[in-house]
Amino acid sequence: MTERIVVIGGDAAGMSAAAQARRISGDAVQIVAFERGTYSSYSACGIPYWVAGDIGEPERLIARSPEAHRHNGIDLRMRTEVEEIDLAAGRVAVRDRAAGRSYREGFYSLVIATGAVPVRPPLPGADAAGVFGVQTLDDGAALLGGLDRARPQRAVVVGGGYIGVEMAEALVRHGVAVTVVDQAAEPMTTLDPDMRPAVHRAMEGIGIDVHTGTAVTGFQTGRDGRIRAVVTGGGSIPADVVVLGLGVRPDTALAREAGLPLGDQGGLRTNVQMQVLGHDHIWAGGDCVEVLNLVSGRYQHVALGTHANKQGRVIGHNLAGSYATFPGVVGTAVSKVCHLEIARTGLRERDAARAGFAYVTVTVRSPTKAGYFPGTQKMRVKMTAERLTGRLLGVQIVGYEGAAKRIDTAATALWNRMTVEDLTSLDLAYAPPFAPVWDPILVAARQVAAAVRNAGEGRR
Ligand SMILES: Cc1cc2nc3c(=O)[nH]c(=O)nc-3n(C[C@H](O)[C@H](O)[C@H](O)COP(=O)(O)OP(=O)(O)OC[C@H]3O[C@@H](n4cnc5c(N)ncnc54)[C@H](O)[C@@H]3O)c2cc1C
Repeated sequence: MTERIVVIGGDAAGMSAAAQARRISGDAVQIVAFERGTYSSYSACGIPYWVAGDIGEPERLIARSPEAHRHNGIDLRMRTEVEEIDLAAGRVAVRDRAAGRSYREGFYSLVIATGAVPVRPPLPGADAAGVFGVQTLDDGAALLGGLDRARPQRAVVVGGGYIGVEMAEALVRHGVAVTVVDQAAEPMTTLDPDMRPAVHRAMEGIGIDVHTGTAVTGFQTGRDGRIRAVVTGGGSIPADVVVLGLGVRPDTALAREAGLPLGDQGGLRTNVQMQVLGHDHIWAGGDCVEVLNLVSGRYQHVALGTHANKQGRVIGHNLAGSYATFPGVVGTAVSKVCHLEIARTGLRERDAARAGFAYVTVTVRSPTKAGYFPGTQKMRVKMTAERLTGRLLGVQIVGYEGAAKRIDTAATALWNRMTVEDLTSLDLAYAPPFAPVWDPILVAARQVAAAVRNAGEGRR
C-alpha cells in the first residue's frame, strides 16, 4: 500500500520536506500538502525588498508555484486550512476556504510546518485598518495594496528588531516618512548594547525617526476605523499606516490542542531527525519548532528561513527512509540598514553569562580592505571567548561592504568548537580589494586570545 504523508504548511519547511521525500521515494509515497494562503514556497525574507521596490512582482519571490509542486506529484491544496489534528485516528480536519467545504484526510506520517505568528500587542486598535503584520506574502501583498490605495504620508514601525529595521528602510524607500518605536534603549537587541548605536545612527542617517525606550500603549483610530496614531508613553505619533515588527512566536495552536510536546517558548520539541518527541510518525520543522543552541546548550526559538529549509530537507530524507539530522544552531544572522551590514553568531554577553560561562570580550575597529585601497571603510568586530579555555563563544560585526558575510568564518569556528587561539592561525584570504593583511576576524581573535592568556596568568 502507498504510504500517505500529510504536510501542514506550504512554505519553506513543509514544501522542502515534501519535495525531498518525493525526490527520494518517487511514487512509493503519496503526499498531500495543505496551505491556507495563496502562495507556496515563497521567500518572506524578500518582503522588505518587494515593498522597497527592488523586486517588481511577488512571483519573483516564489521558488516553486503550486502548479510546479503538483507537476512534481505533490497534491498541494491551496487556500485550505487544517483545523484539527486527530492523532489517535491518524487524520486531520481541513477547511477548503475557496470551496467553503470541510473534510478529513488520513495520514500515516504527518509533517507540521505551520511557521510562526507575528506578535500583536494586546491593545485596542492593534487590529485596525492600516495596521499590518509582515509574515507571509499575503501580508506583504496586503501592505503594498494598502500603500498604493491610501498613499500614506506617515508610517510607524513598532519594533526595532531586524524585521522592523528592514521594513522601516523599505517604507522610506517607498517614499513614506517613517518613525520606529522601540521599547529597548537601542534598536537591534540581537546585538550587545555597545554594538547597537551604529545601527541607530544608520537608521537616522536615512531619515528614520527613531524613538527608543518608548513603549506603545495604544492605537488611535478615526471614525472610519482606520489607524490615526500610535500612542506611546512619550505621546502620540501620527500614523497613516503601522507595521508591526514585534517578533514572532511559534504557530503551534493545532499541535498544542493535539497534545504534542511544546518547549518553554511554545515551539514543538523534536529529536535531531526532526521527529516530534514521543511520536514516531509526526515530524515538525521551521518556525514552529524550538532548536538546540549548540553553544549555550539551551533550546530556543529561532525563526529563520535558513533553518526552515534545512530542517525540511532533513524531514524529507527521514520520511523517505534515508537518514539526515539537524543537530542545532549557533545563532547566526545577518541584516542591514542601507549600506551598514549587521551580523552576529553565537552568544551575546548576556547569553554567555546566563549559560554560566566566565568570558572575556574585545571589540576592534578594523578596515574592510587594505588601508590604502580606494573605498576602504571600517568595521567593528566584537569577539567573546570563554575565559580560561579560550573557546570562541560569539562574534558580532557591524560595518560596511564585506562585513556581514565575514560572520560565516566565525560561525564555522563556533560550529567546530574552535578556540580563539586556533582562529588566529586561520588561512583567510587576503588581497587589497577584499581585506587588510590582517583580516578583521584575525585582529579580533589575536586580541581576545591575548585576553584569555592574561586571564590564565592572573590565576597563577
Ligand atoms: C519580513 C521577513 C524577513 C525575513 N528575512 C529573513 C532573512 O533575511 N533570513 C532568514 O533566514 N529568515 C528570514 N525571515 C524568516 C523566514 O521567512 C522564516 O523563518 C521562514 O519563512 C519559515 O519557514 P516555515 O516554513 O517554517 O514557516 P512559514 O514561512 O511561516 O510558512 C508556514 C506556512 O504554513 C501555513 N499554515 C499555517 N498554519 C496552517 C494551517 N493550519 N493550515 C494550512 N496552512 C497553514 C501558513 O499560511 C504559511 O504559509 C524573514 C521573515 C520575514 C517575515
